[in-house]
Amino acid sequence: KFRVIACERHGISRNKISSGSLKVALTLQQAGYSAYIVGGAVRDLLLGIKPKDYDVATNAKPEEVRAIFRRSRIIGRRFRLVHVMSKGEIVEVSTFRGKAATHNVAESEQANVYVDATGRVLHDNFFGNQEEDVKRRDFTINALFYDPATEEIIDYLNGFEDIVAKRLSVIGEPERRYREDPVRMLRAVRLAAKLGIQIDARTAAPIGALAPLLKNVPAARLFDEIQKLLFCGHALTAVTDLHTRELHRGLLPILDRVLQQPLSKRFVCLVLKNTDERVQQGKPVSPGFLFAALLWHEVLAVWGASVKKGEKNMPALHKAMMSVLAAQRSRLAIPRRHDGMIYDIWSMQPRFLSRAGRKPFRLLEHAHFRAAYDFMLLRCQSGEIDEELGQWWRTFKDASETARRTMLLQEP
Ligand code: ATP
Ligand code: MG
Repeated sequence: KFRVIACERHGISRNKISSGSLKVALTLQQAGYSAYIVGGAVRDLLLGIKPKDYDVATNAKPEEVRAIFRRSRIIGRRFRLVHVMSKGEIVEVSTFRGKAATHNVAESEQANVYVDATGRVLHDNFFGNQEEDVKRRDFTINALFYDPATEEIIDYLNGFEDIVAKRLSVIGEPERRYREDPVRMLRAVRLAAKLGIQIDARTAAPIGALAPLLKNVPAARLFDEIQKLLFCGHALTAVTDLHTRELHRGLLPILDRVLQQPLSKRFVCLVLKNTDERVQQGKPVSPGFLFAALLWHEVLAVWGASVKKGEKNMPALHKAMMSVLAAQRSRLAIPRRHDGMIYDIWSMQPRFLSRAGRKPFRLLEHAHFRAAYDFMLLRCQSGEIDEELGQWWRTFKDASETARRTMLLQEP
């Protein structure tokens, strides 16, 4: 029923696994349970990518895991898991889960799975064996089990072959799996972009038609997933693909307009490329900055239209900011904690135009100056505003106090 792939073939020796997860898996095995490294970490190692974190799957129940590791706690978001602190790492330990949901509500209730009218799984927290656990995972490449004791990979669904072929293939019947959990469609796009692999035809086929199901997913989970997509280090590819597959419709409807016009397209592509470089270099990135950028040209359009109608410049900008953010929020719930950053970045943009008196000094002191400044430079780079403005600020920002005063005097 499954294939065993030896270390000579797959190349992942024990010493490539993080010491924390290795210890957790081996300790569970010594206690008489089966335990494997699973999911994203095995996949990433096979593809030569450094895993973000390690997951362990076991037949031990959460309470049993909890009893073995002193520094552990049971957490229950969607599923009950145990977080084990081991060698300075947090290792996520999940108990093998049982059979996937059915479309039929009555049948599924009997099976202890709850689905809504669209087939979305609401609750499936019950246990199963290894084979069942494999089948409820999303993609074949995410369903490989690595046994640290033998250094073997256990493969039920030809995930290893798919890794070698660089192919993303959904487990089971695609439409049904997306109905159970529409977020899997977003995961497909993100994983393909991040791993540099192709979504196979069968897996891709139903995505366009089922995209509207995303609106049934709780807002917070959707935002989490979009955030992962934007910060996966390959956002330019992922966002482009999101758009091509029409998955953006209910989430980021502005993408249609943004990607249609050359100027806004250039700006957004620059920002995404910049974000990707920062992520790849391990530099901090901020959702506020990225959403400010994605929505900027929409703000410009609304603002411009109001000014044309005779409204005053700054009040018109503030009205545009509010309405664009509110319209976006009705689709994808950007958490309020990002509002400050988004509004500051936007409202500071016109202030870069004043290059006389005290104003440039006051701008420098603003808490979000750096973000607004980086934003302004990207606007220059995209051709929206004159490069000369960016150059001036580059010099002004790093100049001495006297040099700054001279610069101001030179302004006509
Ligand atoms: P990354 O950590 O790079 O985001 P990952 O594949 O490790 O990718 P996790 O969210 O950490 O993603 O999930 C761990 C594993 O759990 C996955 O590899 C997959 O097997 C399974 N999984 C995650 N999300 C789903 C889902 N929505 N449906 C089915 N299985 C899932
Ligand atoms: Mg993971």
